[in-house]
Amino acid sequence: MRNLSITEWAAPIVWHDSYDQSVLEKYYAHRNITVGLTVFAVGRYLQYYLGRFLLSADKFFMTDQRVIIYIMTDNFSRIPWVSLNRHHTFKVFQIKQEKRWQDVSMMRMKTIGEHIVDHIQHEVDFLFCMDVDQVFRNRYGVETLGESVAQLHSFWYQEYPDLFPYERNASSEADIPRGQGDFYYHAAVFGGTPAQVLRIVRECAKGIMNDKKNNFEAVRHDESHLNKYFFLHKPTNISSPEYCRASPLGRPSCIKSVRLSWNFKNYELLRGKQ
Ligand code: UDP
Ligand code: MN
Repeated sequence: MRNLSITEWAAPIVWHDSYDQSVLEKYYAHRNITVGLTVFAVGRYLQYYLGRFLLSADKFFMTDQRVIIYIMTDNFSRIPWVSLNRHHTFKVFQIKQEKRWQDVSMMRMKTIGEHIVDHIQHEVDFLFCMDVDQVFRNRYGVETLGESVAQLHSFWYQEYPDLFPYERNASSEADIPRGQGDFYYHAAVFGGTPAQVLRIVRECAKGIMNDKKNNFEAVRHDESHLNKYFFLHKPTNISSPEYCRASPLGRPSCIKSVRLSWNFKNYELLRGKQ
C-alpha cells in the first residue's frame, strides 16, 4: 500500500532518490560533525557478528564524517582487531551479561542512557544505536541524520497499522490500541541527537522496568517500547527499508539500493545454552 517519502507530520522518509546527495554533502562539509554508533556484542553475538559489522561499517557508514563506534561487550578479549579508516575509531566498554537474550536486548536501553550521560553527549553530534547482526552493503550517509531517527521495518512498511505487531495488552506501557499507530519501526536502528536519544532510551527503559514490575514482557521486547515512544513523539527523519533490509526477502521494485541488511541468524547457536 504505502510507499511514502514524507509523513503526515512532514518528516522525510529517506529513499535512494528522495534527497540530493551533493547538496547534503556540501551542507555537512563545513559543519565538522562527529557521528556516534553504539553496538552491543554480548555472548555468542560477539564472535558471530562483530567483525563483519565493524568492517562493513568502516567501508560504508558515514565514510567522510568523524565516527566513534561504541562497542558494548561482556568479553574484551574477543574483540576482533580491525583497522579503521582515518576518520573512524572505536571504543570498547565492558557490560555485564544478562542471563536471557531478551534482557540483553532490553537492557541496552538503560546502558545506552548511562553512556550518553557519562561521555557520549560530549563526544558526538548525532548518535545511532544498532543491532550487531547486520552488515552494511552500500553508502549509509548524512541523509539519514536527524534530531530523532526511526527505521521502517522491512516486513510491515506496506501494511496497515492494525496488522502491525504492536503490543496490544492495555496493561503494558508499550500498548498501542487497534485503530491507532503510524508505522512499525525496527529497533535494530534508531538514533538522533544525543539529547534526543537519551529521551528515547530513558522512556523505553522506564516502560520496560514498569512492565517487569507487573511481571509483563512486551511482545517484541524493547522494540514494542520503541514503537510506543515514536507513536507518542514522532520521529523527525525516517529511514526507508533500504536502510535495514531482511536479506532473504525478494526485492520489490521500490528497493533500489540496500544500505544495510540483516545477517544470517542461527537461533539455536546464538541463543542456545552457552
Ligand atoms: N544481543 C547480544 N547478545 C545477546 C542478545 C542480543 O549482543 O545474547 C544484542 C545484539 O546487538 C543484537 C541485539 O542485542 O543484535 C538484539 O538482539 P537480536 O538481534 O537477537 O534481536 P532480533 O533482531 O532478533 O529482534
Ligand atoms: Mn537483530
